[in-house]
Amino acid sequence: MSEPSSGIVRRPTRSVRVGDLVIGSAAPVVVQSMTNTDTEDHISTAIQVAQLARAGSEIVRITVNTMEAAAAVPKVREQLLKMNVDVPLVGDFHFNGHKLLREHPACAETLDKLRINPGNVGKGSKRDEQYAALIDIACRYDKPVRIGVNWGSLDQALLARVMDENARRPQPKDAIEVMREAMVTSALESAAQAVEWGLSPDRIILSCKVSGVQDLIAIYSELAKRCDYPLHLGLTEAGMGSKGIVASTAAMSVLLQQGIGDTIRVSLTPEPNGDRTKEVIVAQEMLQTMGLRAFTPMVAACPGCGRTTSTFFQELAADIQTYVRDRMPEWKTQYDGVERMTLAVMGCVVNGPGESKHANIGISLPGTGETPVAPVFEDGEKTVTLKGDNIAAEFRGIVDAYVARTYTKKTAGRTGV
Ligand code: SF4
Repeated sequence: MSEPSSGIVRRPTRSVRVGDLVIGSAAPVVVQSMTNTDTEDHISTAIQVAQLARAGSEIVRITVNTMEAAAAVPKVREQLLKMNVDVPLVGDFHFNGHKLLREHPACAETLDKLRINPGNVGKGSKRDEQYAALIDIACRYDKPVRIGVNWGSLDQALLARVMDENARRPQPKDAIEVMREAMVTSALESAAQAVEWGLSPDRIILSCKVSGVQDLIAIYSELAKRCDYPLHLGLTEAGMGSKGIVASTAAMSVLLQQGIGDTIRVSLTPEPNGDRTKEVIVAQEMLQTMGLRAFTPMVAACPGCGRTTSTFFQELAADIQTYVRDRMPEWKTQYDGVERMTLAVMGCVVNGPGESKHANIGISLPGTGETPVAPVFEDGEKTVTLKGDNIAAEFRGIVDAYVARTYTKKTAGRTGV
């Protein structure tokens, strides 16, 4: 897949291989997601992994919290292979990861990456011993590790030490700055320990997740200055609906614009029985609207106003956005560059023709009370005017024909995910 040029200069990092993917250095920013199924139920988990992968998640993380969940991990992989889904799997370990991986070597073998939270690997004298055991397993199975600090589970002993050091300063920093410093210190010191115990620096990815936008920006800016590890970027506990989307985008886009962030996850709380793939779509749209990646054709649509009092315009915009997303799995196996196609669905003649001419393909509807005609523009030229009750279906047909004649046909199709 070709990548657009955003003009953003990515921060130089090491590159870390995760399955067949590369994270960091000049590799495109990778989209990842996490399941919310019980991993012990390997069928439900495999189904959700497949849904996330088919939506475009390039890595999927699963919870590994019990012996049964660890035992189920190879079964999740087997089930995915039966479903023709090949996506790197990451195991999310807290508290007992050393025991689970020791008792279930097939789990360690199956996973493509381990996520370890240095604040949850053990307490007191057991902390280093258990953390070392996890790193030893990662080395033995040659697995990359994300050392993922989270402010909700920050290493309390380390926090106390950083607070003590701060208190001895002539001008102590405030509590927020101390917390940020403790997060960065936890990630860097944990990475240094892992390297000391034999893990290659080229197998380490760092994250420091918080739920505050300004905290995330400050912490990652500092982390980026102090290391060359690839960074997993994400606002934790971002929340539901528009709040989660806005907060994640506000924080992550500032960092991405500075070239910081090598893989992203948007941690949205789904509505009850809501669609988990939303987090993947938001991550893709964030990267695509910033010009960092291209995943699926983007539809520009005006907001509508008093000139569009019927719902026809909104329905057509939604119809076309859904249509191109649904067609993408097939298109991307057939046509190179189709993911960069732009479309416009505009409500009336005020801005409709102009915006439509700037898109690869656009349609300008009549406003309410205007003559019921809808000119279509392809690469800036008006090609046809649609009329009547079948405008949506006819426009979809025009989009299909445009794709077929505009984008280079691939010689070999790709199957699965
Ligand atoms: S293009 Fe027309 S319908 Fe759309 S917002 Fe502008 S004036 Fe309103």
